[in-house]
Amino acid sequence: MEECIFCKIIKHEIPAKVVNENEYVIAFEDAYPVAPVHVLIVPKKHIANIMEVNDENMVYINEIHKMIQNVAKNKKIDAQENGFRVITNYGEDGGQTVHHLHYHVIGGKRLGPKIIHE
Ligand code: 5GP
Ligand code: ZN
Repeated sequence: MEECIFCKIIKHEIPAKVVNENEYVIAFEDAYPVAPVHVLIVPKKHIANIMEVNDENMVYINEIHKMIQNVAKNKKIDAQENGFRVITNYGEDGGQTVHHLHYHVIGGKRLGPKIIHE
């Protein structure tokens, strides 16, 4: 996946503000944040989108969920009175623009009923 921008970030070939990473996932700041906290959680395996998730690669989803909790604590938005929103976009209507599975963790302000890419 030579052309995939997130694969390049995983390999540290292009810069990103990394929040945390481990063997399975990397978390970094979105280049165009829509809220005070906007972190992308990305598996270190090129899974194109949520429809490509299966029993074989499910370990990455487990790790993504653990990393979401980790990032929420790191960004101090983990308490119930704070909170955050998790989004993964897919397809034309969903508005996925980078075709490497990723979860947006968005918070740090009161989010309205509208969602990302409104
Ligand atoms: P999507 O629209 O696919 O759900 O989300 C892609 C996200 O990746 C967008 O929020 C966009 O701002 C972010 N993004 C795109 N290119 C880069 C990049 O090179 N670096 C970082 N940090 N974020 C990026
Ligand atoms: Zn990729």
